[in-house]
Amino acid sequence: MNIPPVRPVIAGMTGYVPGEQPKWTKIIKLNTNENPYPPTPQLKTVLTPEAVDRLRLYPDPVAQTLREEIAAFHGVSPDQVIAANGSDDILTILARCFLDETHPLAMPVPTYSLYKTLAELQNAPVITVPLEKESNYALPADFTDRIRGASIVMMARPNAPTGNSYALEQMERLCAGFKGAVLFDEAYADFADDNCDSFLKKYPNVIVSRTFSKSRSLAGIRFGYALAQPEIIMEMMKVKDSYNVNALTQLFALTSFRDRAYLAETSSKVRATREEYRKKLEAIGFQVIPSQTNFLFAAPPDRDGKGFFEFLRTKQVLVRYFPGEMTGEFVRITIGLPEDMAFLLECAKEFCAKS
Ligand SMILES: *Cc1c(COP(=O)(O)O)cnc(C)c1O
Repeated sequence: MNIPPVRPVIAGMTGYVPGEQPKWTKIIKLNTNENPYPPTPQLKTVLTPEAVDRLRLYPDPVAQTLREEIAAFHGVSPDQVIAANGSDDILTILARCFLDETHPLAMPVPTYSLYKTLAELQNAPVITVPLEKESNYALPADFTDRIRGASIVMMARPNAPTGNSYALEQMERLCAGFKGAVLFDEAYADFADDNCDSFLKKYPNVIVSRTFSKSRSLAGIRFGYALAQPEIIMEMMKVKDSYNVNALTQLFALTSFRDRAYLAETSSKVRATREEYRKKLEAIGFQVIPSQTNFLFAAPPDRDGKGFFEFLRTKQVLVRYFPGEMTGEFVRITIGLPEDMAFLLECAKEFCAKS
């Protein structure tokens, strides 16, 4: 069929490819950084008949109750918060706010590959700075100098897929020294030792984003938010879809947000499992990047990341493999239940024995 022509940039691009969501059930799914624990049990009580009846109404366009409670938690004002359909929605909004042909994106590489896709959609140039692979993917000391001229820099902190974080002092020098907007994509902050919240008060160019997909076990409802100066939030509000957070998501997100004790409990279990299996994988010769997230970026002793990925597949264990010179020796392993991690470790030992 001869379809009408789309914009050349769309026709020419591949588009972002999300991790696999296999349909079969026996698989151990450690490939998309979902949480192995269920979301807060409080969610089971909130979908009352009255709540179902209210679905005939449009949702609150700005999710004001959530904004207020999120603002209070972070010690900012509600007009410094924007709610979104997952933090990917925040990224899309920022790309539309800051990027075009003459307004480049900057980012370290490797990082979350959606950033580049969003820049492509805006026809925006991308300035990339390689991380120091030989130093656990540290950020080069001259990073700020090398991204001069970009309109926004997107920093996944902690980073994906490598799992490491960058020193707060280095981040502060970036905020102070870079003229454009600085996004800290803190999708994994609840598994980390620190975050960039405190920069919001000191630097007008800082934007911090968070998601309920990882630490709150709610990837399925799509909720995320960003914090920034009111003037930045106002511009972002112009760009977002009018009803970008649906009513069910607002209800579930609010209920989850209020249960901080459950978040603390499940996040600390994930962190403990992470540290246990980091040590166990290192003990059998793997290189494991120090992780501040809910995953491990690990290279087998023979450095054959692809071979290990494929071997795990034959065992019905699904992890993520990122080909290329910067990442191809590693696989990314989402932290699962302790029993799933134990099985993964057995597979790793078997892989080492035969290669
Ligand atoms: C998972 C992830 C996201 C996307 O989160 P959603 O809220 O599910 O859209 C954003 N950034 C990074 C670095 C992630 O790993």
